[in-house]
Amino acid sequence: MAETTFDRRDITHIVWDWNGTLLDDNHANLAAVNAVCARFGRAPVEMEYWRSVFRRPLIPCYEDLLGRAFEDGEWDEAEELYDRSYLEHLPRCTLADGVPDVLHDWVGGGGTQSLLSMASHEHLVPLIAERGLDAHFTRVDGRRFATVKDSKAEHLVHHLDRQGVDPAKVVLIGDIDDDARAAHEAGANALLVASGLMARERLEATGATVVDSPVAAVAALRGV
Ligand SMILES: [Mg+2]
Repeated sequence: MAETTFDRRDITHIVWDWNGTLLDDNHANLAAVNAVCARFGRAPVEMEYWRSVFRRPLIPCYEDLLGRAFEDGEWDEAEELYDRSYLEHLPRCTLADGVPDVLHDWVGGGGTQSLLSMASHEHLVPLIAERGLDAHFTRVDGRRFATVKDSKAEHLVHHLDRQGVDPAKVVLIGDIDDDARAAHEAGANALLVASGLMARERLEATGATVVDSPVAAVAALRGV
């Protein structure tokens, strides 16, 4: 991947990822993955393993996990199982350490921020409201349409277009390599947190700067 470092002083707007970034939901994700494993006769996996293999697009990732291709209808079934299990565990997921204080800090320093997730739009919007986070963001978008590549890239382009934000002034803060890919394809910048669903070495392989947490990401942007 191309060089993705940037001058922090050029950044005026953060696009936050949700799952694995602002929301500490790794264990809910793992439980949901293991619900899929159980249905398809695969032994449960551990967090470290899942962080070493999880990737987008999701279908080939899960086919590798399960050791065979999906037959007709099976991917839909896997998604339904995943969602049901995830939703059962979601109420016990907390915001990442330092959230929402770090959102206040960024706006207090004169920046703007928005939220873009690959969770379905209908799922995401009420969740952000329930957690009382709406007011921090200029815009909240989940996955509003399907794409062939199953990447955040096209969604990010729309998300920035709708706000009239210059991508060069934007940093996407996320927890997987697709967040860096999306930022690169949209002409924006990326900062990755190693607290989410992907192992640090895999994040570093993107060429993006990797930090420990959302708090560390904003500290890096503010030069403190
Ligand atoms: Mg994420």
